[in-house]
Amino acid sequence: MTVCDVCKRRKPVVYQKHTGLKLCKECFYQDIHRRVKAEIDRWGMIKPGDTILLGLSGGKDSWVLLDTLVRLHDPSKIIAVTIIEGIPGYNRREYAERVKAKAKEYGIDHIMTSIKEYTGHTLAEIVDESIRRRVGVSPCTYCGISRRRILNLYARMYGADKTATAHNLDDESQAAFVNLLRGDWEGLLRQHPLSSPASPLIVPRVKPLRKIYEWETATYAYLGGFPLQETECAYINMMPTLRARVRRALYRLEERRPGTLLTFMETLDRILAEDARSLKPQQLPSCERCGEPTSHGRRLCKLCELLEKAGIEKPRYTELYQHGGREPLKLHRLRVSEGGG
Ligand code: SF4
Ligand code: ZN
Ligand code: ZN
Repeated sequence: MTVCDVCKRRKPVVYQKHTGLKLCKECFYQDIHRRVKAEIDRWGMIKPGDTILLGLSGGKDSWVLLDTLVRLHDPSKIIAVTIIEGIPGYNRREYAERVKAKAKEYGIDHIMTSIKEYTGHTLAEIVDESIRRRVGVSPCTYCGISRRRILNLYARMYGADKTATAHNLDDESQAAFVNLLRGDWEGLLRQHPLSSPASPLIVPRVKPLRKIYEWETATYAYLGGFPLQETECAYINMMPTLRARVRRALYRLEERRPGTLLTFMETLDRILAEDARSLKPQQLPSCERCGEPTSHGRRLCKLCELLEKAGIEKPRYTELYQHGGREPLKLHRLRVSEGGG
């Protein structure tokens, strides 16, 4: 019988192309946990007493993140947030309830909310209006920015030290490559685990899975029997064109030479480390509409600007910015509730 290359006892169920090893489930899981821990320790991503707010979409990556983090960190210090985007047929309330039930089994706190609760509109409503007005912004852009903002808001409200997202190696290398092609040096540095957030109002973000391949998170979730959705997001094929091209190109390179993405990210990490470390949080101007930080010379933050293009001039979150625009959002509580999508 063929046996696992590591324990030499059990039956292998995974062929890890980039190492050439055949692994049994236990050894494969151990390998993932070891690599995630090494990445966390290497950059000091998480300290022992940290409260971590984790984005738990219920997708394969987010289950791997949760299942790994609870082995490395005190579960009573982990809060999971599930955000219902409001996309027809995808990540509906029934599914989110299953995610919540599973999260409870880990003994962690769980919050359910939605893009609608935060902005006043579902993602589908925002996208429909954006298409009608020919804005030319991809649904993933609205979705990504809204989710980041919601996680950050809850992290501030709960006094979390870090937000953890489940970006994997494929996501990170695609984003890095796009930044390189665009010449976005600051974007590249901000991706580095040693960089600090741009503003004190942004809770530091960590990505513990950044060196784990997407096929590995998919295999992990499949072998672990996590509740996964059978439907795909309806907007998956509407991602920005450059990103989609880079994605295809990187997959071809990885296919021809397994391990390419890992080498790429490792090399970038080393080249960027010094410059990323010296990036300091700045006192950024506040968005006139919502009080969140924005870049110098801008009146509105990116989210307010994008929503305005889609005809939404008073998103719900602006109600949280009060006292004549003097108080930042952190002093106001968004209703922690069972927001629907
Ligand atoms: Fe959001 Fe795009 Fe993912 Fe759909 S594919 S959930 S729109 S980021
Ligand atoms: Zn084994
Ligand atoms: Zn704003």
